[in-house]
Amino acid sequence: MPQLLLATPAMAAEYSNWFVNRRAYTRQSDRPHPESGRHYYYRPGSKAGAEIALEIEDVRRHLAGEITLGIYAINPGNQRVKWMAIDADYRRSLDDLLKLQYELQQNGVQAALEQSRRGGHLWILFEAPVLAKHARVYIRHLAGQLAVQVKSTGPSDGIELFPKQDRIDPVQFGNAIRGPLGIHRAVNRRYWFYGAAHDLESQLAYLRQLRRVSEEQLAGLIADLEMPEEAPLPQGGCATHSRPGFQILEFLDRSQLRRVGRNWVTRCPSCAAAGRDRGKDNLAVSVEEPLKYLCWAGCTNFQIRAALGASAPVLTR
Ligand SMILES: [Zn+2]
Repeated sequence: MPQLLLATPAMAAEYSNWFVNRRAYTRQSDRPHPESGRHYYYRPGSKAGAEIALEIEDVRRHLAGEITLGIYAINPGNQRVKWMAIDADYRRSLDDLLKLQYELQQNGVQAALEQSRRGGHLWILFEAPVLAKHARVYIRHLAGQLAVQVKSTGPSDGIELFPKQDRIDPVQFGNAIRGPLGIHRAVNRRYWFYGAAHDLESQLAYLRQLRRVSEEQLAGLIADLEMPEEAPLPQGGCATHSRPGFQILEFLDRSQLRRVGRNWVTRCPSCAAAGRDRGKDNLAVSVEEPLKYLCWAGCTNFQIRAALGASAPVLTR
């Protein structure tokens, strides 16, 4: 039997403030699929086919264990997330999650570990929504440092990040994850956070006191990431003196640079050429070491230089 617990509208409202990024949602089916036996998540719609938006009452029922919600990570209006979740469900996945939790703690980030059926979910809450892209850059980098595999497409072990995308189109949803404290319909049991007693009030109190990561703190953490140093441009056969590295700042419109933490941030010229990066923040240039720059969307330095019309070697004598 699912544990029916006293869940109040006030609890649901507070939970929504922490976890609901948009009102589209999914629900885990109460009945197993006749063939696979799995309890799939579906997006509830009305009979007329219209999308149904999440209400506080749905969240209250989720907390009470009557239904189980899947929540989306990204708000498509601003491409931001209130949280980041790391899902791991392979053998020894708990080891990886604990490694990540410890390393996050070293960075001043408190992450809450929730049990799941085969592993766990690690949750990071933000003080105010941050760009999905920035949250992902940080966690991917951290995972790389710890040699924790991030799952790629296809069957492979590894952690999965929610949000799974850096950004989504307004008509897209991205991927949903079981809302914390939800009951898994297949086994009718609730997976609690390790950090508090196994009752709803203690669990919510635990989440309430969890330190939120500010946008500034996140910016600082990703500014510390290693940026590839720009290699000097290839020399023409006749050039003999050594050329200094590519000074990207000389090619950028200075009036469009904003300082975020230890970086200058502006629209990536390569993204811009493709009509992307309307948020004008994909390109980061290290303030201290301006030879280092990168595009969060993954443009290569070669593509960025080409978009700036600076790809050809400059032959000076
Ligand atoms: Zn770019």
